[in-house]
Amino acid sequence: PAASVAAPPTPSPARRIRMLDPGVVIQRPFNALKELMENSLDAGATSIVMSVKAGGMKLMQIADNGSGIHLDDLDLVCERHTTSKLERFDDLKSIATFGFRGEALASVTRVAHVSIISKTADAKCAYKAHYADEKLVPPTASDTNARPRPCAGNKGTIITVEDLFYNISTRRKALKSPAEEHAKIVDVVGKYAIHNSGVSFTLKKHGETTAADVRTAAGGTRIDAVRAIYGAQVARELLELDGTEPKLDLVVKGLVSNADYSMPRGTFIFFINHRLVDCPSIRKAIETVYAAYLPKKTFPFVYLSLLMPGQNVDVNIHPTKKEVHFLHEDVVVETVQKMLEAKLLGSNASRTFYTQA
Ligand code: ADP
Ligand code: MG
Repeated sequence: PAASVAAPPTPSPARRIRMLDPGVVIQRPFNALKELMENSLDAGATSIVMSVKAGGMKLMQIADNGSGIHLDDLDLVCERHTTSKLERFDDLKSIATFGFRGEALASVTRVAHVSIISKTADAKCAYKAHYADEKLVPPTASDTNARPRPCAGNKGTIITVEDLFYNISTRRKALKSPAEEHAKIVDVVGKYAIHNSGVSFTLKKHGETTAADVRTAAGGTRIDAVRAIYGAQVARELLELDGTEPKLDLVVKGLVSNADYSMPRGTFIFFINHRLVDCPSIRKAIETVYAAYLPKKTFPFVYLSLLMPGQNVDVNIHPTKKEVHFLHEDVVVETVQKMLEAKLLGSNASRTFYTQA
């Protein structure tokens, strides 16, 4: 399959092959849901409502009020390397950075039964289509017509993913319990809700009337989202990081707990160029700064978002890739560390001053 894709000049052939390896993208339910959330956000949704069953293994449904998908595009959206997003990337280098563009939906259709209901603003009604292995399929086995069908629906898109890994028993067996998969989904959705505060996120167990696992309001602030997800206690103790490093073309934003707050298990939320990833070097650097303030074996709450030129981020920033690396990593880490140090020092001093007054 690698030969059928025009290779951009930057990445090595080995990388291209790995990115095209079918089924690589989705290892656990949360990987799929994360991709679907990113699509809803890309579509300009201000509300994203998700429901999952059995830790996402039986069902994951995501409904957004974004731009919707045109009827003609419903034929293609689930094919590998079909994307409506290339015009956004201004040069080949950044296309290479997002080399897995147009892979997510295709990958999901290879490992689950997928249906899409979507309506654009100018369409008279919504259309529903079913997919398997990147292709449109009839809704039932006895049916022969795979064409999308008109149906009722609001502007936006509802994607339903059922029976994840129905065709890969080894992958199914490698999963944790439904409760653990569910917890991981709650964790990831909560983190996206914080990064994208202002967009309303709702996550609940399908068909259950119990309280939602995640619920944030449209138009809320980032602190509102932290409060909704991690509680009022930590939300009261947050300092804002907001800085730039022009030499690196770097923008740093964050919400971090102050020097007087700590918990036995910390929270570390890290987004780079709007993708949720792990970055051990930054994590370690941040923990080192806090170690001077917090009691032993306690940790802070840290939400950190970095924006940098796309071509500086390793092309291996893949949906299942846990760790991210980027150009000038040591300098970036040091910059963040300094910003944090200044902030914590400042908060500590003002507190002392306040108590003395
Ligand atoms: P990518 O996001 O990299 O383009 P995907 O496989 O995730 O690739 O999605 C393929 C295409 O399907 C997108 O480019 C977009 O045009 C369309 N799409 C997917 N999800 C949505 C959605 N929720 N709303 C509108 N369009 C969507
Ligand atoms: Mg996508």
